[in-house]
Amino acid sequence: MKRIYILLIILPFFLLSCAKQDSKNIEILNKAGENFVVLALSLGDYDENYVDAYFGPDSLKTKAKALGLRLDDIKSKAKENLAKIQVLNIKSDSLEYRKNFLINFYQSLLARADFLSGKKTTFDEESKAIYGVVAPHFDSKFYAGILSSLDSILPKGNGTIAQRLADFKKLFIIPETKVDTVFKTAIVKAHQQTLKFIKMPADENFKLEFVKGKSWGAYNWFKGNSQSLIQVNTEVPIYIDRPIDLACHEGYPGHHVFHSTIERDYVKKRGWVEFSIYPLFSPMSLVSEGAANAGINIAFEKTVRRKFEKQVLFPLAGIDTTYADKYFKVIELLTELENASTDIARDYLDGKISKEKAKDLLINYKLQTPERADMNIKFYEIYRSYIINYTLGQKMIENYLAKKNSKTEKDRWQEYYKLLQRPPLPKDLLTNE
Ligand SMILES: [Zn+2]
Repeated sequence: MKRIYILLIILPFFLLSCAKQDSKNIEILNKAGENFVVLALSLGDYDENYVDAYFGPDSLKTKAKALGLRLDDIKSKAKENLAKIQVLNIKSDSLEYRKNFLINFYQSLLARADFLSGKKTTFDEESKAIYGVVAPHFDSKFYAGILSSLDSILPKGNGTIAQRLADFKKLFIIPETKVDTVFKTAIVKAHQQTLKFIKMPADENFKLEFVKGKSWGAYNWFKGNSQSLIQVNTEVPIYIDRPIDLACHEGYPGHHVFHSTIERDYVKKRGWVEFSIYPLFSPMSLVSEGAANAGINIAFEKTVRRKFEKQVLFPLAGIDTTYADKYFKVIELLTELENASTDIARDYLDGKISKEKAKDLLINYKLQTPERADMNIKFYEIYRSYIINYTLGQKMIENYLAKKNSKTEKDRWQEYYKLLQRPPLPKDLLTNE
């Protein structure tokens, strides 16, 4: 009885001191969040690709401009902020999450600022510093098995596997005049699938544009207020399997849904301002690209997807379906060759192989056309170890989701949506592997 009495006296004081501690921590995190935005925007002046999206207050843009920070200032201020949040003693789960995300944001900003200052690191050191992970290395034996399967499936001919593949794939190019209709149809379908399970902001929307002269195949530029600009590069041929991939990856349930969810849940509801900026070279990209790729299989179970492509998209594009199943098999094997991108980029950027050799490997191991190989090399030069986010990111996200043991389609969507609502950090993904 006495103990309960003492507890009743102590408890309110204890709760009060926790609340006080929490509000102090919130104040520090808010400040560190705001400072991160200012420093990230400032870094954007030295790196045109760093700020992928910003939809926060204009006042922080004005502040960054007015400060006119030098690279060294950005680094020292980032270190100061990092030190302040690293020592915070936080009890609440959501504040601890915010703290850890901010720590990762600052650490990745520092790594990118170091690179811009001329610091040399290996590909693997860079990916670890920015995305928190190192991609596995595959040797030529790994690719030989896949290449030999492709060799046996592709129509016979005199050329190399790459040439025979290019000839076969020509049957599946969407004519330029049909690209718009086929893409829009794929996006409508991906949107419908997504809306069955995910509640999007009512006014969400996107604009679709076709562009040329880019190092990427497609891009989502998030504009804030649940609006995206999705650009598709038509400089290289667009094959019939791409519309579903890109509709899901860039739009639904990929980047557009991801950014809209973060904006609604973190920026607008909670006021976590650091999430109003998307620094491309940050761990956010591992989740964003990984989830965007994993989202394709969430939205379209394989047989449903192939049926939709054959019955709807092929006729819309005026493509004959006679060899469709063979084409799909080829595409699945090509997906397994995706790891080659990371291996070739790593060796090229680490100076172990020349540009010519990288191009040669892309043609012979990734079976790309010379034009596509040039585009990829341009991508590696600009985005560097970012390339790991597609294949490794997808694998990590899929492993993470597989641990949830979802039984039904609804369960799978629910787990996927939870992931978008609270993006895990690389370390969370790793501990769940
Ligand atoms: Zn992407």
